[in-house]
Amino acid sequence: MAREDEILDRLEVRYGKDLHTQLEHKSMEELFVAVFLSPQCTDKQVNNVTKTLFRRFRSFNDYANADIRVLKRCLKGLNYYKTKAKNLKESCRMLVNEFGGNVPRSIDELTRMPGIGRKVANVILEEGYGMCEGIAVDTHCGRVARRLGLSRHKDPYKVEKDLMRRFDEDVWCEISNHFIELGRDVCTARVKKCEVCVLNDICPSSTT
Ligand code: SF4
Repeated sequence: MAREDEILDRLEVRYGKDLHTQLEHKSMEELFVAVFLSPQCTDKQVNNVTKTLFRRFRSFNDYANADIRVLKRCLKGLNYYKTKAKNLKESCRMLVNEFGGNVPRSIDELTRMPGIGRKVANVILEEGYGMCEGIAVDTHCGRVARRLGLSRHKDPYKVEKDLMRRFDEDVWCEISNHFIELGRDVCTARVKKCEVCVLNDICPSSTT
Protein backbone atom coordinates (compact mmCIF):
# COMPACT_ATOMS: atom_id res chain seq x y z
CA MET A 1 0.00 0.00 0.00
CA ALA A 2 1.35 3.48 -0.86
CA ARG A 3 2.35 5.56 2.15
CA GLU A 4 -0.31 8.16 1.29
CA ASP A 5 -3.05 5.47 1.42
CA GLU A 6 -1.64 4.11 4.66
CA ILE A 7 -1.68 7.61 6.22
CA LEU A 8 -5.31 8.21 5.27
CA ASP A 9 -6.43 4.72 6.32
CA ARG A 10 -4.92 5.09 9.77
CA LEU A 11 -6.34 8.59 10.26
CA GLU A 12 -9.80 7.35 9.27
CA VAL A 13 -9.59 4.56 11.83
CA ARG A 14 -8.36 6.97 14.53
CA TYR A 15 -10.58 10.00 13.88
CA GLY A 16 -13.54 8.55 11.93
CA LYS A 17 -14.47 8.80 8.28
CA ASP A 18 -17.02 11.57 8.19
CA LEU A 19 -15.28 14.67 9.55
CA HIS A 20 -16.74 18.14 9.12
CA THR A 21 -16.03 21.72 10.09
CA GLN A 22 -16.72 22.67 13.71
CA LEU A 23 -18.05 26.05 12.60
CA GLU A 24 -21.69 26.11 13.64
CA HIS A 25 -24.23 26.79 10.86
CA LYS A 26 -27.76 25.83 9.90
CA SER A 27 -27.90 27.05 6.29
CA MET A 28 -25.74 27.82 3.28
CA GLU A 29 -25.85 31.52 4.20
CA GLU A 30 -24.62 30.81 7.73
CA LEU A 31 -21.92 28.44 6.45
CA PHE A 32 -20.65 31.06 4.01
CA VAL A 33 -20.44 33.74 6.70
CA ALA A 34 -18.86 31.47 9.35
CA VAL A 35 -16.16 30.22 6.97
CA PHE A 36 -15.63 33.76 5.66
CA LEU A 37 -14.90 34.94 9.22
CA SER A 38 -12.66 32.00 10.14
CA PRO A 39 -9.17 33.00 8.88
CA GLN A 40 -6.76 33.89 11.73
CA CYS A 41 -9.37 32.86 14.32
CA THR A 42 -10.26 29.68 16.21
CA ASP A 43 -13.57 27.97 15.47
CA LYS A 44 -14.58 28.76 19.06
CA GLN A 45 -14.05 32.50 18.52
CA VAL A 46 -16.13 32.40 15.33
CA ASN A 47 -18.92 30.36 16.94
CA ASN A 48 -19.11 32.86 19.83
CA VAL A 49 -19.55 35.74 17.41
CA THR A 50 -21.96 34.04 15.00
CA LYS A 51 -24.26 32.99 17.85
CA THR A 52 -25.56 36.57 18.04
CA LEU A 53 -24.63 37.66 14.50
CA PHE A 54 -26.95 35.06 12.93
CA ARG A 55 -29.89 36.34 14.98
CA ARG A 56 -29.40 39.83 13.63
CA PHE A 57 -28.41 39.12 10.01
CA ARG A 58 -30.41 36.42 8.26
CA SER A 59 -29.70 36.83 4.54
CA PHE A 60 -26.90 37.97 2.21
CA ASN A 61 -29.09 40.99 1.56
CA ASP A 62 -28.97 41.90 5.25
CA TYR A 63 -25.14 41.89 5.20
CA ALA A 64 -25.02 43.77 1.88
CA ASN A 65 -27.24 46.53 3.29
CA ALA A 66 -25.74 46.55 6.78
CA ASP A 67 -24.61 49.72 8.50
CA ILE A 68 -20.85 49.07 8.50
CA ARG A 69 -20.48 50.44 12.05
CA VAL A 70 -23.05 47.94 13.35
CA LEU A 71 -21.43 45.08 11.46
CA LYS A 72 -18.00 45.97 12.85
CA ARG A 73 -19.44 46.01 16.36
CA CYS A 74 -20.96 42.56 15.85
CA LEU A 75 -17.62 41.12 14.69
CA LYS A 76 -15.55 42.72 17.41
CA GLY A 77 -14.49 39.41 19.05
CA LEU A 78 -12.56 38.40 15.92
CA ASN A 79 -9.07 39.22 14.70
CA TYR A 80 -9.09 41.75 11.82
CA TYR A 81 -12.78 42.42 12.46
CA LYS A 82 -12.77 45.81 10.75
CA THR A 83 -11.39 44.45 7.48
CA LYS A 84 -13.61 41.38 7.73
CA ALA A 85 -16.72 43.55 8.19
CA LYS A 86 -15.86 45.64 5.11
CA ASN A 87 -15.07 42.58 2.97
CA LEU A 88 -18.11 40.63 4.18
CA LYS A 89 -20.45 43.49 3.25
CA GLU A 90 -18.86 43.82 -0.19
CA SER A 91 -18.81 40.05 -0.82
CA CYS A 92 -22.49 39.77 0.10
CA ARG A 93 -23.24 42.69 -2.21
CA MET A 94 -21.55 40.69 -5.01
CA LEU A 95 -23.46 37.54 -4.06
CA VAL A 96 -26.74 39.42 -4.33
CA ASN A 97 -25.97 41.45 -7.46
CA GLU A 98 -23.77 39.12 -9.49
CA PHE A 99 -24.70 35.61 -8.35
CA GLY A 100 -28.45 35.95 -7.79
CA GLY A 101 -28.08 35.47 -4.04
CA ASN A 102 -26.50 32.01 -4.49
CA VAL A 103 -23.06 30.93 -3.36
CA PRO A 104 -21.10 30.11 -6.54
CA ARG A 105 -19.76 26.61 -7.09
CA SER A 106 -16.18 27.24 -8.17
CA ILE A 107 -12.96 28.41 -6.56
CA ASP A 108 -12.42 30.96 -9.35
CA GLU A 109 -15.77 32.67 -8.72
CA LEU A 110 -15.48 32.52 -4.93
CA THR A 111 -11.96 33.96 -4.85
CA ARG A 112 -13.10 36.97 -6.90
CA MET A 113 -14.81 38.20 -3.73
CA PRO A 114 -12.77 40.28 -1.30
CA GLY A 115 -11.55 38.37 1.74
CA ILE A 116 -11.91 34.93 0.17
CA GLY A 117 -8.74 32.93 -0.49
CA ARG A 118 -8.41 29.35 -1.70
CA LYS A 119 -8.69 27.87 1.80
CA VAL A 120 -12.01 29.59 2.53
CA ALA A 121 -13.30 28.74 -0.96
CA ASN A 122 -12.34 25.07 -0.57
CA VAL A 123 -14.13 24.78 2.79
CA ILE A 124 -17.28 26.47 1.45
CA LEU A 125 -17.40 24.13 -1.57
CA GLU A 126 -16.68 21.06 0.50
CA GLU A 127 -19.08 21.72 3.37
CA GLY A 128 -21.77 23.43 1.32
CA TYR A 129 -21.81 21.36 -1.85
CA GLY A 130 -19.68 18.29 -1.12
CA MET A 131 -17.35 19.45 -3.92
CA CYS A 132 -13.58 19.04 -3.79
CA GLU A 133 -11.91 21.28 -6.31
CA GLY A 134 -8.81 21.49 -4.14
CA ILE A 135 -7.60 20.87 -0.59
CA ALA A 136 -8.20 23.43 2.19
CA VAL A 137 -4.75 24.03 3.70
CA ASP A 138 -4.84 25.86 7.03
CA THR A 139 -2.03 26.16 9.56
CA HIS A 140 -2.64 22.65 11.01
CA CYS A 141 -2.89 20.97 7.62
CA GLY A 142 0.28 22.70 6.36
CA ARG A 143 2.29 21.80 9.47
CA VAL A 144 1.21 18.14 9.41
CA ALA A 145 1.93 17.86 5.67
CA ARG A 146 5.47 19.19 6.22
CA ARG A 147 6.16 16.94 9.23
CA LEU A 148 4.94 13.92 7.29
CA GLY A 149 7.31 14.84 4.47
CA LEU A 150 4.46 15.40 2.00
CA SER A 151 5.53 18.97 1.25
CA ARG A 152 8.49 21.15 2.10
CA HIS A 153 6.70 24.43 1.39
CA LYS A 154 5.39 27.10 3.78
CA ASP A 155 3.12 28.73 1.22
CA PRO A 156 -0.34 27.09 1.67
CA TYR A 157 -0.99 27.17 -2.07
CA LYS A 158 2.21 25.21 -2.78
CA VAL A 159 1.36 22.74 0.01
CA GLU A 160 -2.09 22.31 -1.54
CA LYS A 161 -0.56 21.57 -4.96
CA ASP A 162 1.83 18.99 -3.42
CA LEU A 163 -1.06 17.26 -1.63
CA MET A 164 -3.22 17.32 -4.76
CA ARG A 165 -0.42 15.63 -6.68
CA ARG A 166 0.08 12.95 -4.03
CA PHE A 167 -3.54 12.05 -3.17
CA ASP A 168 -6.35 10.88 -5.45
CA GLU A 169 -9.02 13.47 -6.18
CA ASP A 170 -11.75 11.44 -4.47
CA VAL A 171 -10.05 11.87 -1.07
CA TRP A 172 -9.16 15.56 -1.32
CA CYS A 173 -12.07 16.52 0.96
CA GLU A 174 -10.93 14.09 3.64
CA ILE A 175 -7.25 15.05 3.69
CA SER A 176 -7.72 18.49 5.11
CA ASN A 177 -10.15 17.49 7.89
CA HIS A 178 -7.99 14.53 8.96
CA PHE A 179 -4.77 16.53 9.00
CA ILE A 180 -6.53 19.23 11.04
CA GLU A 181 -7.69 16.61 13.58
CA LEU A 182 -4.16 15.20 13.86
CA GLY A 183 -2.71 18.71 14.12
CA ARG A 184 -5.08 19.63 16.95
CA ASP A 185 -4.76 16.32 18.74
CA VAL A 186 -1.11 15.16 18.77
CA CYS A 187 0.87 17.04 16.11
CA THR A 188 0.38 20.52 17.55
CA ALA A 189 2.47 23.59 16.79
CA ARG A 190 3.85 23.64 20.35
CA VAL A 191 4.47 19.95 20.94
CA LYS A 192 4.65 16.69 18.99
CA LYS A 193 3.16 13.76 20.91
CA CYS A 194 4.72 11.20 18.59
CA GLU A 195 4.56 8.43 21.18
CA VAL A 196 0.75 8.35 20.89
CA CYS A 197 0.46 9.24 17.19
CA VAL A 198 -0.94 6.55 14.89
CA LEU A 199 1.57 7.53 12.20
CA ASN A 200 4.72 7.39 14.33
CA ASP A 201 6.28 4.44 12.44
CA ILE A 202 5.79 5.97 9.00
CA CYS A 203 6.52 9.64 9.79
CA PRO A 204 9.98 11.05 9.00
CA SER A 205 9.63 13.63 11.81
CA SER A 206 8.71 11.12 14.52
CA THR A 207 10.68 11.38 17.74
CA THR A 208 9.93 7.79 18.79
S1 SF4 B 1 4.71 11.09 14.36
FE1 SF4 B 1 4.98 13.04 15.43
S2 SF4 B 1 5.66 14.52 13.89
FE2 SF4 B 1 4.82 12.72 12.80
S3 SF4 B 1 2.67 13.26 12.44
FE3 SF4 B 1 2.74 12.13 14.35
S4 SF4 B 1 2.91 13.68 15.98
FE4 SF4 B 1 3.43 14.66 14.01
